[in-house]
Amino acid sequence: MSTLLDCQLIQWPDDQAAYMAAVNENSDNAGKTTGVRRKRSVINYSKLWANGRTLKVAFMDAPDTDHKDKIIAAANQWLPYINLKFEFVDDLKGDIRIATKNNDNSSMLGTDALLIHPDHPTMNLGVKPEHEDFEVIVIHEFGHALGAMHEHQHPKANIPWDKPKVYEFYKNREMNPLTEQQVDRNLFASFDTLDAIYTSYDRKSIMHHPVANTLTLGNWEVPINRRISKKDKRLMRLLYPK
Ligand SMILES: [Zn+2]
Repeated sequence: MSTLLDCQLIQWPDDQAAYMAAVNENSDNAGKTTGVRRKRSVINYSKLWANGRTLKVAFMDAPDTDHKDKIIAAANQWLPYINLKFEFVDDLKGDIRIATKNNDNSSMLGTDALLIHPDHPTMNLGVKPEHEDFEVIVIHEFGHALGAMHEHQHPKANIPWDKPKVYEFYKNREMNPLTEQQVDRNLFASFDTLDAIYTSYDRKSIMHHPVANTLTLGNWEVPINRRISKKDKRLMRLLYPK
């Protein structure tokens, strides 16, 4: 698998604090599920920004202009489908704070970014601008920043993972190996948020990691999805209606 969209979606570990931050930002985060029966007692809420707002996006470590422009162009691909604006700034203060000098690609989920210390990034874009998947990865990370989960962890995904092989693969790879626990969290665990209620499972989603045929049972794979899919657009329009 040469093109590995390797992303860590990070959620704030303290659910109560995350809930408070989410509801404080957007009171709709608390209760869009009225009438939907909940299977578990886990707090079920969303982490969406207040609709209509301008999100300040800060470049914390001064990437060069070309690099910055490429990030902006990719992030802006979401704009037609959301009722939010981005204001890109060069200082340290932003609702979303991007660092480009680390090697990993990661983002906080939506309003969880509010809980990160203001001196620290909420998004790492380690991918280099010359990388063939640069644009895809930037769009993907901004999808998380807007509140979208990993599509391969959609409760209806039912990916026929060859689990022992997946553990083996991630444990032994040179770059950024993952423990079984991390694999469970990043690949196998299905999410239980409001997103799932809105749209059905979408193999073409830009929020889906590529799945190699060698890591599944039978003939099952998902190539890297390079574009915002129809359902991605639909989900974003539902989350941030105009
Ligand atoms: Zn991701």
